[in-house]
Amino acid sequence: MSRSFDAVVIGGGANGLVAATALGKSGLRVLLLEAAEALGGQSRLVEFAPGFRAAPLATDPGWLPPAVARATEIDSPARLSVEAPVTIAAAGEHLTLWRDTARAADAIRPLSHADAKRWPSFIARLRKLAGFLETLYRVPPPDVNAPAGELLSFIGLARRFRGLGREDMLEFLRTLPMSVWELLDDFFESGLLKAAVAPGGMVGVRQGPRSGGTGFALLHGLVGAEAGVARGRAPWRDGPEAFTRAAHEAALRAGVTVRTGAQVARIEVRDESVAGVVISTGETISTSRVLSTADAARTFLGWVDPVWLDPEFLHAVRNIRYRDSTAWVLYALAGLPEIPGLTPEALRGVITLTPSLKALEQAADCAKYGSMSERPHVEVTLPSLHFPGLAPEGKHVLVARVQHAPYRLGNGTAWDAAGRETLERAVTDAIAAVIPGFVGRVLHRTLLVPPDIEARFGLTAGAASHGEVALDQILFMRPVAGWARYATPIAGLYLGGAGAHPGPGVLGGPGWLAAQRLLGNRPVRAGESS
Ligand SMILES: Cc1cc2nc3c(=O)[nH]c(=O)nc-3n(C[C@H](O)[C@H](O)[C@H](O)COP(=O)(O)OP(=O)(O)OC[C@H]3O[C@@H](n4cnc5c(N)ncnc54)[C@H](O)[C@@H]3O)c2cc1C
Repeated sequence: MSRSFDAVVIGGGANGLVAATALGKSGLRVLLLEAAEALGGQSRLVEFAPGFRAAPLATDPGWLPPAVARATEIDSPARLSVEAPVTIAAAGEHLTLWRDTARAADAIRPLSHADAKRWPSFIARLRKLAGFLETLYRVPPPDVNAPAGELLSFIGLARRFRGLGREDMLEFLRTLPMSVWELLDDFFESGLLKAAVAPGGMVGVRQGPRSGGTGFALLHGLVGAEAGVARGRAPWRDGPEAFTRAAHEAALRAGVTVRTGAQVARIEVRDESVAGVVISTGETISTSRVLSTADAARTFLGWVDPVWLDPEFLHAVRNIRYRDSTAWVLYALAGLPEIPGLTPEALRGVITLTPSLKALEQAADCAKYGSMSERPHVEVTLPSLHFPGLAPEGKHVLVARVQHAPYRLGNGTAWDAAGRETLERAVTDAIAAVIPGFVGRVLHRTLLVPPDIEARFGLTAGAASHGEVALDQILFMRPVAGWARYATPIAGLYLGGAGAHPGPGVLGGPGWLAAQRLLGNRPVRAGESS
C-alpha cells in the first residue's frame, strides 16, 4: 500500500513534534512517524519496575525558546520552583547552591569568605554569557559561503554581541574554549564549590573538567535557566511529559497525522531527490519532503542508499563523535532516603557526589581508553519528590546519572554481565557512602549502559546529544561542516533533530529552524523573535 503526504517528519521527540506542527500550520499535509509506541523521544517515561517510572534522559527538561512556542502555538508548560538546584554531598561535607544568590553565598561562606563574595558576580556572568548563547540559538548558524544578503541576519547578532560590552565580549570568547577547571580556578578557591559546579560542563561530552571546551558545555546547559542557577532548568510543573503533551496537542491542532510504532527502515531517493519513506512493515509513504529528527548517523548511514551521497559527506558523517559515555541506574526505593545534614528542600535538585575536580577528571580518564570508571562520577535526582505518581504511594524513584561508561569497552568488546555488575556496584557504593541505609531501601534497580540507551531510544552509541557538544561540532559545523543549515545533499531531505544547530536541550530549536528551511522561509533575525 502506498499513501502520499506533502511532508513526512521522522521522530516524535521535541524536535519532531515542533517541526511537524510548524509544517502543518503552513498548510502542508504532514505525517509524523515515531518508532516507539509513545511520543516524547528522550523525555519518554520508562517503567523499570512495576509502578516505578522515570524519564532518565530528561531529568533537566531543557529550554523551550519562547519564539518557538509562540510560532507553533504550543502552550508552554509551567515550571516548578526549585530553590536548591544543585547540592554537593561528598566525603562527609555538603554545600547547597541555592537559587537565591545571597543564600548561596551564605552557604559558601563557611568554606571561603572570598568565594562567598565572588559567587554573585560569577553567577551573574554565567547568566549573561548563556543569555548570549540563547540569542545565537534562535537563528540558523551562519553560512560561511552565504551571499552577503543572507549574512544580514547575523548583523543583528553582531550588534547584540557588541551590546555585551567590551569586557563581557572578551569574557565570552575566552570562556568558550576554556576548561571548566580553569574557569572555576579563576574565581574560586574552595574545592567543594568547584566540584559542585564543574559537572555541568561534562554533560553530553566524554571529557572531564580539564578538557578545553567544557566551559562552553557549562554555558550550553544554562541556556534558558533562571537567574541564580548554576545548573540546569527547573522541571515542568505537570510532570516530565508536560511538554510532549502540549506539543502533541499543537501538532494535532495543526492537522498533523501522528503514527507511533512506525519504524522507518529506508528513505527512498530518485534522481537525487526524496521520493518516499519505507517503514519496517514494508509500507511505503510517498512524499517529496522528509524532515528527520533522528541523529545524522542513523539518517544518512542507516536509511539512505550511499550511492546518492558524496563520499566526502559520508566520511564527515562517519566522523561525527557520538561518545557521551553516560549510563543511568534507576532505583526503586521503599522510602524517601535521607542525607544527614541536608534539608528535604535540598533533595529536590541535583545532588552531585564527586568531591573534587581531580576525582571528576579521574572518572573521565578511563573513558579515553575505552574502560568504565572504577569510581564514576555519580549524580542523583529524586523525581518522585516532585511527581509522586512516578512511584507507588510512599515509595520513591532515584535516578543516578553516571559518567563515564563508554559505548564499547576497551578492545571493542560489548558490555557483559560482569561489566554491568561492576558498574552497578560502583554506583550503588557511591550513593551508599552518602545515604546511610541506602542498600536496605532498594527494592529494584535497572542499569542502562549506552547500548541499552541506543536500543531503547533510537540513539547512535546511546548519545543523547545526537553528537557530542564540542566546539568543533556546533554552529556551522553541526552536524557536519558545509551542511549545517538543515538541508542535505539530497533534495527534499532535511535534518532537524538535536544533531543540528542549536543542539540538545533546546526543545524544538533545531526542529523549528529546519521546518523554516524546508518551507523556504527567510532566517529570523536576531532579536526579532525573542
Ligand atoms: C548536553 C545535553 C543537554 C541536554 N539537555 C536536555 C534537556 O535539558 N532536556 C531534555 O529533555 N533533554 C536534554 N537532552 C537530551 C536531548 O538532546 C533533548 O531532549 C533533545 O531535545 C532531543 O530531541 P529530538 O527530538 O531532537 O530527539 P529525540 O528525543 O532523540 O527524538 C528522536 C526520535 O526519533 C525516533 N526514531 C529513531 N529512529 C527511528 C526510526 N527508525 N523510525 C521512527 N522514529 C525513529 C526516536 O524513537 C525518538 O523518539 C540533552 C542532551 C545533552 C547531551
